[in-house]
Amino acid sequence: MSSAYLQCIEEACGRRQDPKRDLHACEFCGGLLDVKYDFDPIDPEQLRRTWHQRRLSGEPIDRSGLWRFRELIPFVDFKARIISLSEGSTPLVGVRRTGWWAGPVHLTIKHQGNNPTGSFKDLGMSACITRAESRGVRMVACASTGNTSASMAAYAARAGIKALLFVPYKQISAAKLAQALDFGALVVEVGDNFDDAFRLLREIAPELGLYLVNSINPFRIEGQKTIVAEMLEQRAWRPPDYIVVPGGNLGNSSAIGKGLRELKELGFIEKVPHIVIVQAAGANPFYQTLRAAAPDLLAVDNPQTEATAIRIGHPANWKKAKRVLDWAGGFCESVTDEEIFEAKRVLAEDGVGCEPASAATIAGVRKLVRAGKIERHADIVCVLTGNQLKDTDYIMRHRTEDQKNSQLLQVEPDLNSLRRELKRALREK
Ligand SMILES: *Cc1c(COP(=O)(O)O)cnc(C)c1O
Repeated sequence: MSSAYLQCIEEACGRRQDPKRDLHACEFCGGLLDVKYDFDPIDPEQLRRTWHQRRLSGEPIDRSGLWRFRELIPFVDFKARIISLSEGSTPLVGVRRTGWWAGPVHLTIKHQGNNPTGSFKDLGMSACITRAESRGVRMVACASTGNTSASMAAYAARAGIKALLFVPYKQISAAKLAQALDFGALVVEVGDNFDDAFRLLREIAPELGLYLVNSINPFRIEGQKTIVAEMLEQRAWRPPDYIVVPGGNLGNSSAIGKGLRELKELGFIEKVPHIVIVQAAGANPFYQTLRAAAPDLLAVDNPQTEATAIRIGHPANWKKAKRVLDWAGGFCESVTDEEIFEAKRVLAEDGVGCEPASAATIAGVRKLVRAGKIERHADIVCVLTGNQLKDTDYIMRHRTEDQKNSQLLQVEPDLNSLRRELKRALREK
């Protein structure tokens, strides 16, 4: 059996941690932790076949797009209970018009909005809640911009574990909040933004003995890293030139980088795609930090963006993300809310919907091609992180509130009014 352990990511420390404790930070220096493995010998060719064959299986553990790749995450005994909702197995779709608009580049999207609760968080949560359950945890908690809440509430419910959520007051989408409530979680609205809510949660967690499932929990990262294995399998193991992800707390970019690195070390791929992280201009601490080549994070104290899923000013995982970009030769870009909406609008013309935060990836590609940092005709996969229906208020605002461009007509119920209004609207189109 392969075996797992926790290790501090700080170069000056790097110590292994007591495997009997589930820590969220290094017990010596407070740094972030990695889950590391002593892998059994792996034959990539044979394992690819095994993973492929599992798609035909009826077993829940094989049908999950996460646990199908379980040899990459050997931190639990797979004969024990797996907390799964058949997450993963998300589509990889070519988007020609969007690729033309953004480049021209060869663009495909990996749509994580097709997960059980509608975001990529389900992969991390299935891994993390499985771990928590195997440890006898009775209550889990997180702070969230919304999707982590919805996901944690669902997986905790399935495991029979209590769920406690901290969300910023009136700052997360109604749909995400409703999901969490629907799954029976206790929700605390506190603070003006994610960073406030998270800080308070971390302060009170030891007192209440809370098990945190934010992305500082290294088992979240393990679940999310299988996104790249699945994407590569869908591409017959030909890596793209670039993988583009939005950056909030920087867990997902860290996970994708870790996944690529392990797949390379285990002999599944030769070429390493560049990783590109895109932040919203009003919440771009990582972008600013890299641009200034600052040794410490240049945090943003009052992050602002309509893309609420990435409205984070103190990204907890920035050191892991930095390590990924250094290794994969990647970079970070920043885009305005207007650029995000424009990208989302173009993507919709390809019949693909997503959250605003997800569309930041497309906006980033366009900007980077224009700046000559990404070459035209490059082979690019954008990870769309969340489902279209996660933020319908955003859609209504952008599609109906501007009188002139509104796509929503209100018409008196008589034929003359109908004729007049339709003629006017159709002429203007
Ligand atoms: C959580 C989330 C992000 C940001 O991911 P991080 O791992 O925090 O960087 C982006 N988009 C959506 C839809 C999310 O739910």
